[in-house]
Amino acid sequence: MFRIGQGIDFHQLVEGREFWLGGIHIPHHKGALGHSDADVLLHAICDALLGALGLGDIGLHFPDTDMAYKGADSKILLKKSYELVQAKGYKLVNADSTILLQAPKIRKYVDEMRQVIADILEVAIDDISIKATTTEQLSFVGREEGIVATANVLLQKV
Ligand code: MG
Repeated sequence: MFRIGQGIDFHQLVEGREFWLGGIHIPHHKGALGHSDADVLLHAICDALLGALGLGDIGLHFPDTDMAYKGADSKILLKKSYELVQAKGYKLVNADSTILLQAPKIRKYVDEMRQVIADILEVAIDDISIKATTTEQLSFVGREEGIVATANVLLQKV
């Protein structure tokens, strides 16, 4: 009746890219580098959704060699991933995630991200959790060279 899934994603942060996170645009002097809009949080949630049902991963369904996904809005990838879940007869119970990021501070954007994700996944905002931590200046995250997101989901058979 229940399935759990886990996802993780990494992207470089570079000057001159728009910063998309959790489906929204955040003003910052750097953005994540990638084939799509490089939204690490949405990518981690996609992988968790796919993983819960053994459906592979985001790279399998939306390859970065496919020009259809160049600059793609990751909200579309999330919607398509959830359609695969629904086609298997499952729905989301809840999702919990953590973003590892040194800067900028994102707390004031979290509820907007939760609402965007909840709308796509057809759940209430309270069913979507987004947490964030710095790495205390340690590693590539601490040097503001990259961003990481992890996500876990619980699915229930409809
Ligand atoms: Mg990614």
